[in-house]
This record gives sequence, structure tokens and C-alpha cells, in this order.
Amino acid sequence: MHSAAGPVAGLREVDPDEAAADGCTPSEESPETASDGCEPSTEPVKGPMPEEIQVPVQETLNRAITALITAVPPLLLGLGAWQMWNHGLQWRDVLIFLVMYIPVGLGVTVGFHRLLTHRSFKTSPAMRGLLGVLGTMSVEGPVISWVADHRKHHAYTDRLGDPHSPHVDHGVGVRGALRGLAHAHVGWLFDHQQRGARERFAPDLLADPVIDFVDRTFVLWSLVGLAMPFGLGVLIGGTVAAGLEGMLWGGAVRVFVLHHVTYSINSLCHFFGRQRFDTGDHSRNLRWLAPLSFGEAWHNNHHAFPTSAWHGMDRSELDVSGMLIAGMERLGLVWDVQRIGAERQAAKAISD
Ligand SMILES: [Zn+2]
Ligand SMILES: [Zn+2]
Repeated sequence: MHSAAGPVAGLREVDPDEAAADGCTPSEESPETASDGCEPSTEPVKGPMPEEIQVPVQETLNRAITALITAVPPLLLGLGAWQMWNHGLQWRDVLIFLVMYIPVGLGVTVGFHRLLTHRSFKTSPAMRGLLGVLGTMSVEGPVISWVADHRKHHAYTDRLGDPHSPHVDHGVGVRGALRGLAHAHVGWLFDHQQRGARERFAPDLLADPVIDFVDRTFVLWSLVGLAMPFGLGVLIGGTVAAGLEGMLWGGAVRVFVLHHVTYSINSLCHFFGRQRFDTGDHSRNLRWLAPLSFGEAWHNNHHAFPTSAWHGMDRSELDVSGMLIAGMERLGLVWDVQRIGAERQAAKAISD
């Protein structure tokens, strides 16, 4: 399926110093830097080596579980819509949805993405564990696999080897665009040819006992993420029915919405929106998606400066994850927060 289109599209020069400054690996030889996983490639770019691709284990079972996790929440969303039609939406359910969506979403953006994938700040093992657990409740897979896939996405952005590019080998015209978007949004979760090898892309996390524990207990935290809204529903509504309703909105509907917001960063943010920086890929800033995604939709900014704790680069670019990191920094909970100075921004900016 993956033909020669990738390497051709991927012919570009990467300055090792520049890449290292962004947190990417300058050399394949160094185990210390290899853990970043987003190395600049030597030319010409050939695509990933076999050891960089995760070998699927129990592929059929894996696909069946992914299908279940993908299909059940939208079916339950239908149940929620039917309930809303009949009884209206209860304030209790909206509250439970938000109480779950906000911390779990920030667990993905601040924890999985900015801390664990890109090391854009440092924190204590307890905070790493908390952010890792919150992110795991999103049911987006075990944390180390999530990070390995995402580091591989940065290493091979929009060329052969990218686990979820809408631009590699999907054909041309409207049909090709739609196929590409479908693959980048959800299809790649079923197509196991370009997943990131955990040992290659995330050895630092495999060696971190806290994150290794969170990774291995993925199912437990996913279930806790359903039990919590059930408990909240019972607590506020006083009945088991209220608990089940809480689990519908704070569990299934929340999983569905957060899944598709995350998936949209991979699909829409490599297709629609504005490019503010010259990144040599198709990453885009998509303003309307920024509030729902807690700032992750400033995706072109992010590809320009992967280690930056802020994805919104100025006051007009709302970035709730960046605000949370800055707040935690003030409280002394996190430190060594990575910021990009005006000069470095100007050097990469696309002039209007
Ligand atoms: Zn991207
Ligand atoms: Zn990233």
C-alpha cells in the first residue's frame, strides 16, 4: 500500500542543530537522544526502518477492541440524544460531562502530549503519574503506545512512516482527500503498518516506573473513568438511574467527543486552517478547534516548535493547556518550562 510516493514527498533537508533545539534526536546512534524519537533524517529520506515499526500483537483482537471502543460511544450518544428529546438535558449531566471532559482532556494535552511526548516541562513523579492516569481515562490506548505513535508522527510528518498523515498514498482529487482524511482521523487505528515501535520511540518512558505502571494498568484507569461519572450521578441524583445517566454523559459521550477532538488534530489540522510557520509539512492552525482541544489546534505552531509548552504563540491564540502549565509553574508544581523567544519565532515565520 505504501508506495514510493512517501520518500519522494519526503525529500527535504533537516538541520540537526535546529532539530535538536526543538527536542528532536540529532543522531540515531545516541541512546540518550534516541528517546526523543523525532530525529532529523539523513538525506535522501527513505522512510522508517523495520525496527521503528511496532509489530502488532494479537492483531485481530486488537482491531475488535478498537472497533468496540470506536463504535459503542456514538451508539450511546444516540441514546443520549433520544433521552434529551424526551426529557430535555439535565444540568446534572452537563456538569458531570464537564467535570470529566476537562481534567481528562488536559491529561491528554498537558500529560500525554506536552510532558511525556515532548518534555516541554519537568515535574515530580507524583504529577507525572496523575497526568498519565487522567490522560489514560480518555481510552486513547496505553500511554507509551500513544507517545511512540506521536513521536513517530513528528519524525516522519506527512511522509512515508507517519502513522496518520492524510497526505501519504491516498490518491488524488476529492476521493483521495476524503480517503486521506478518513485514514488520518480513525482509519490508522485499524491499519497497523506504521505504528511507532515502543522500544525505539519511547525507551525513556519504558524505563520510567511510574509511567510503565500507568501503561500496564490502562484497562483499570479506563474503567475508573466510567465509574467516576456513575458515582457522581448517584451522589447528585440519589438513584442508580441517575448514576447510569451520569455514566452515559460523563463516560460514553465524553469519550466520544474527546476521541474525535483528538482525531481532528491528526486529520483536520493537517488539512484545513492557516500556516503561520514554515515547517515543511502540512500542519495547520485551526482557530475554531482551539477551545475544545485546549490549545492543541495551534498545530502548525506546534510542528514549528515541538518542545514549546505553549502551542498558542500570542495572546490572540487561546491555549488553556499552556495556561495550566504556567499556573502550575507559579505554584512550583512544574519547572523548566520551555518557551520560544520572539527571535526564534520570527526566524521561522511565514511572511504575509
Ligand atoms: Zn501533526
Ligand atoms: Zn506533538
